[in-house]
Amino acid sequence: MKRFTEEEKLQILADLIAIKSVNENEIEVANYLKDLFAEYGIESKIVPVTKTRVNLVAEIGSGSPVIGISGHMDVVSAGDESEWKSDPFVMTERNGNLYGRGTNDMKSGLVNLALTMIELKANNELKNGTVRFMATTGEEVGGAGSKKLYEEGYMDDVDYLWVAEPSPETIIYSHKGSLNFRITSLGEAAHSSMPNHGYNAINPIMKYLLELDEKLNNDPRSNEVLGKLVMSTTILNAGNQVNSVPEKAVAEINVRTIAEFDNDEVIALFKETAEKYNQEGSKIEVKVTMSLPSVFTTGKSDMVELTKELGKKHLNLDIKVEGSPGVTDASNLLRGKDKNFPFMMYGPGETKMAHKTDEYVRKDYYLAFFDIYRELILGLTK
Ligand SMILES: [Zn+2]
Repeated sequence: MKRFTEEEKLQILADLIAIKSVNENEIEVANYLKDLFAEYGIESKIVPVTKTRVNLVAEIGSGSPVIGISGHMDVVSAGDESEWKSDPFVMTERNGNLYGRGTNDMKSGLVNLALTMIELKANNELKNGTVRFMATTGEEVGGAGSKKLYEEGYMDDVDYLWVAEPSPETIIYSHKGSLNFRITSLGEAAHSSMPNHGYNAINPIMKYLLELDEKLNNDPRSNEVLGKLVMSTTILNAGNQVNSVPEKAVAEINVRTIAEFDNDEVIALFKETAEKYNQEGSKIEVKVTMSLPSVFTTGKSDMVELTKELGKKHLNLDIKVEGSPGVTDASNLLRGKDKNFPFMMYGPGETKMAHKTDEYVRKDYYLAFFDIYRELILGLTK
């Protein structure tokens, strides 16, 4: 019976942490996993997304059910590395925790999925069905990788999907969408002693942003699980001299959407409102820089039930089942699926540690998730 030793499990995670897959460097993670799969006779396929970015897909078994398992290979920047207690790219164990950029979000989950699949294959344990491993690129920057997988049909025949993002205590079955805009207001520069010789780019963009802020954030519609849509203007740049009328103002906005007030409706509202200002002489341009729809499923499935049991058994936790404001690759992977589709986000780590300095995953949780994932796959394919 093939079972990776604890030492091997830690070494493989440490190897992946050492790969600085901060934006555009996920290909090294993909190649590492591809070689690892090949060592155990599992063929995998690099799926190019852009010239430099790739996904990796590997599969074992055949026929239905098809279980989709997914994680992203990119990590966010380590920020100021001197703020870390140990090198963010050298996995370090302290007090039962494994520290390093990506230990939590989400290379531990990714290794759990990959090694579980290798063991199932090596031991010929999978009696029915297919397990499809989908490692994505660019999750932290708009989900380009998961969009590609959806477009190329990798989700068409999938019956269950789980994303191994950090959430060991709570099964997430629905989450908000995320929508980014860049708004540019163009004016005409002039000396501030004669502002009427120019056109101030700041004034219309302020009114525009406040009008939308009021409209969106006061909208009464609410999702039964996720609550209301929220909008925040997060960046505003304009002007460069106190006595010059600015010719350009640029704002960036993030909107967290719900199915009841979705991305398309928000985009239309931003465009219509710009049109209204432009008819009064402003020049406001609207650019959508990212659009990920919300995910809304019922959370009622044999997968969720079994996961609750396994969480109790291996982590000794009463697993909660909830919605979340954060987004995952499921925004793209679940395009076109209905609300009864069995989806969950469930993996080792701690949601609150994502993107932080001194990011860590609990070692006991990381190790327990190998058993959880194996028993989950075997339970769904009996
Ligand atoms: Zn993540």
